[in-house]
Amino acid sequence: MNRLLSIQDYVTGLQTGDIAILSKAITLIESHNFQHQLLAQQLIDALLPLTGNSVRIGITGVPGVGKSTFIESFGMHLVTKGKKVAVVAIDPSSSISKGSILGDKTRMEKLSVHPNAFIRPSASGGSLGGLTYKTRETTLLCEAAGFDTIIIETVGVGQSETEVSTISDFFLLLMLAGAGDELQGIKRGIMEMADGIAITKADGTNATKAKSARAEFANALHFLPPTNSGWIPEVKTCSSYENTGIKEIQEMIEKFIQHQIAKGFFESKRKEQNLYAFRRLLDEQLKINFLAQPKIKTQLLELEKQVVDGLISPYSAVSKVISKP
Ligand code: GDP
Repeated sequence: MNRLLSIQDYVTGLQTGDIAILSKAITLIESHNFQHQLLAQQLIDALLPLTGNSVRIGITGVPGVGKSTFIESFGMHLVTKGKKVAVVAIDPSSSISKGSILGDKTRMEKLSVHPNAFIRPSASGGSLGGLTYKTRETTLLCEAAGFDTIIIETVGVGQSETEVSTISDFFLLLMLAGAGDELQGIKRGIMEMADGIAITKADGTNATKAKSARAEFANALHFLPPTNSGWIPEVKTCSSYENTGIKEIQEMIEKFIQHQIAKGFFESKRKEQNLYAFRRLLDEQLKINFLAQPKIKTQLLELEKQVVDGLISPYSAVSKVISKP
């Protein structure tokens, strides 16, 4: 029963939308076992012609902003419109805690049991190619399995929120009203990367605050340099509790995608992202191979001691290692 699946088994399974096979394929690419990794790379290569046919939406915001509640509500809106939605995660904490931000499926009660949705609790931290690499491949697997909308959730801490923009088409930033930028830990750079902002929890007594936050953010965005494609990021308010503003956010994303396609930026951005992933992996692999050489290892130990003791400058030490024939 537990026999190893062949590449063809995986490809056929994914092409028929078999969710059990999709889960197995993701487990395979997340494996640290060398044989599994070889198989995983062959699989990804074999699947490439079947990928790319989705809209990849990156979603970030500080813990508590309402990401999972939003994804539940937004995802349900999409599936009722006939979309097939996969939710994956970039979770920098998972390598430390061995847990996962999506581990608790009850956070998305309705979506997680919907036949046209797939939620993957992902443990992607600390892998080669940065936080996003495994998530990137998971996205490709989901596309091969027929999902047309991929939601990539990140916790809004560390590098995860900037990294998500290297694998998504649309980058949605969720913000709370009246918390102040600094309180939300949102760096200006992230606002610059956002293709859209949604002010969450715009309900009850918070509704008015959300409205004025929307105006403030829209105003702040005006002072940012225009994007290459000429898209002006929009700010919306929404309530996942009341299901308001959700449809408008989906329409904003659709409008953005149409805009990008019309201006020729949709494809070119993905090409850039492929190149970025390649260069980044190559950088890391070269470094790993270089440092793994026994001679270099010994030399490094010695040089590090000398650097620590102030006998040689870090710069000279590096020159010595690099110039080694
Ligand atoms: P995450 O940490 O960003 O994933 O945030 P959660 O989705 O877990 O939500 C954090 C808290 O905000 C929870 O207590 C939610 O019930 C609450 N919350 C989420 N969405 C809404 C909303 O639309 N309105 C209100 N009033 N509360 C919300």
